[in-house]
Amino acid sequence: MASEFELIARYFTRGTSHTVLGVGDDGALIAPTPGRELVVSTDLLVEGTHFLADTDAEALGWKCLAVNVSDLAAMGAQPRWALLAAVLPAPTPEWLEAFARGFFACAEAYDIDLIGGDTTRGPRAFCVTILGEVEAGQALRRSGATAGDSIWVSGRPGRAALGLAHLQARYALTEPRLADCLAALHRPQPRVELGLALRGIASAAIDVSDGLLADLGHILEQSAVAARLRIAELPAAGPERDAFLAGGDDYELLFTAAPSADQDIAALAATLNLPLTRIGEIVAGPPGELVLHDGDGNDITPASRGYDHFMSRSSGTGTVSRDQQ
Ligand code: ADP
Ligand code: MG
Repeated sequence: MASEFELIARYFTRGTSHTVLGVGDDGALIAPTPGRELVVSTDLLVEGTHFLADTDAEALGWKCLAVNVSDLAAMGAQPRWALLAAVLPAPTPEWLEAFARGFFACAEAYDIDLIGGDTTRGPRAFCVTILGEVEAGQALRRSGATAGDSIWVSGRPGRAALGLAHLQARYALTEPRLADCLAALHRPQPRVELGLALRGIASAAIDVSDGLLADLGHILEQSAVAARLRIAELPAAGPERDAFLAGGDDYELLFTAAPSADQDIAALAATLNLPLTRIGEIVAGPPGELVLHDGDGNDITPASRGYDHFMSRSSGTGTVSRDQQ
């Protein structure tokens, strides 16, 4: 059986492209770009809580890193370095190889160096710590929204939740939508380019990990403002709409910006070839209050913003989801 050192050497050691000293010493050395701030974030993923034992290892590897990349995207930062702490049961080479393939595919896609970590035996769990850079003072925060700002969301939220619902036999999707929703679930594409482009444009931002309404709630609370949403192209009632509003795990960006930026944002959507949809506006009001109208003007504000309320059989263990417990 491979020792811990052999295992690290075989599966978790690759070349680096912007690191002074990577895996192998007591610590890694990095040289942050002068004038930039470091953004640091970490996420813990535990088998049985955040993913099931039979989750595809390659998809899990991708997603372990991708959910962290998404946090940096939401800060408007450039991801640069990651550390991986892994708790592994008796190592199965095929499983580890597939996990590493997914993890490094994501690392390469976003130009991230794996610079260290820790490895120990036990019930399977992973903790990724990610570091990135942003020009001093330019990071996007949850707390900057002000009355009059437009509220925007990227992509088409809800696809990951629908994919999960399909896998759990709670909802039936057909091709080509099925493949699209499963891709969103297993290989989310964190919106790093968008986050970078939104520096100096967005007043607040968050990534959609818990669901659009729940995550908008975090912006409202931290910015001490309220919101009126009117979503013109809201899916018809039912699981599609529930997933759009409350499904987690999509890793789209939800952001606010002054209405004077509306045209820049529309132009950005074209440049990035990514839908950016204006879904409402920030208003002065009780902090955290959120009122939702459909395209016809009907008040459809839900009693709860949480996904579990909508899709009650989901406990979120079909795949990785950071905050569903
Ligand atoms: P130490 O005993 O000094 O903590 P370790 O034996 O735990 O050293 O780790 C040896 C080297 O391998 C260190 O550079 C560490 O950062 C790296 N490392 C350990 N586990 C992982 C992992 N899962 N992924 C990447 N690097 C790892
Ligand atoms: Mg160690």
